[in-house]
Amino acid sequence: MKSKLFRFLSLAVIAAVTLGAGPAHAAKIRVVTTLTDLADLTRNVGGEHVEVHSLATGIEDTHGVPMKPSFVPVLNRADLVVLVGFDCEHAFLPALLEASKNPRIQVGKSGYVDCSQGVTPVDVPKSTDHSEGDVHPYGNPHYMLDPMLAKTAVQNICNALVAIAPQYEADFKHNRDTYLAKLDAKIVEWQKEAAPLKGVKFVSYHEHWPYFANRFGMVYFGTIELKPGIDPTPRHIEELVSSMKAEHVSIVVREPQFPEKVPALIAQQTGATLVKLPIMPGGVPHTDTYIEMMDYIVHTMVGALPK
Ligand SMILES: [Zn+2]
Repeated sequence: MKSKLFRFLSLAVIAAVTLGAGPAHAAKIRVVTTLTDLADLTRNVGGEHVEVHSLATGIEDTHGVPMKPSFVPVLNRADLVVLVGFDCEHAFLPALLEASKNPRIQVGKSGYVDCSQGVTPVDVPKSTDHSEGDVHPYGNPHYMLDPMLAKTAVQNICNALVAIAPQYEADFKHNRDTYLAKLDAKIVEWQKEAAPLKGVKFVSYHEHWPYFANRFGMVYFGTIELKPGIDPTPRHIEELVSSMKAEHVSIVVREPQFPEKVPALIAQQTGATLVKLPIMPGGVPHTDTYIEMMDYIVHTMVGALPK
């Protein structure tokens, strides 16, 4: 009897300690983000109340972050998972969520934070038979390259943090407003700096740039990939080169996760300038934050203009 009572008390103590470690108390809110841009935004909004871990380091393909066994325990302990949405992470996130066995962060739960809520996608495929590629089934998911749409992600992250830890609502909203004001000031600066980019034609390896092109008035001429997620064919490259020459396309963008060979060849054959641009913070050196990354992209695009 005595030992049973002792065991019960021990369990009760353990339970009390475990409950005490929940997000409602002093412990930090554990957030896992798929990509580094969302990690940076979450740190800005969450401040001292969050502990943020990004699955990607910045150099990966946004559609195929290589899954590591270490991701599973990290997700198992997470209070929130923050993602791009529009099925951008389809190749790795659903399997990881299932393996995590964490009921708080499954689809539809308050810990599942889809930052595309409120974003209207461009290039939505007319059919769902995957003939237009497998990686953009609900339209183009690369809206974070438009800083105006990054503001929507900031708001979605703030809402999720307030929902899970309402005791810090004032802090989260203050941090959100501070960051949005900083971003607004940078947007004015970027639009001024990017003025010479208006009407400038460019191509890229993957279809990362329609939102960026819309924001800064560039003409997104085409992609080296045949379709999103589908490798180029020799015929496609040949046609792209000849149309780029005819239309005076002056910039070829190579994202860090793709090899340089084909973009370099296309730039050489067309006389365009080849630039390597990150698609999330950490993709190239000195782009540790979202703002640093956008700074880098705008400076590099402007620097690539024909002299
Ligand atoms: Zn994509």
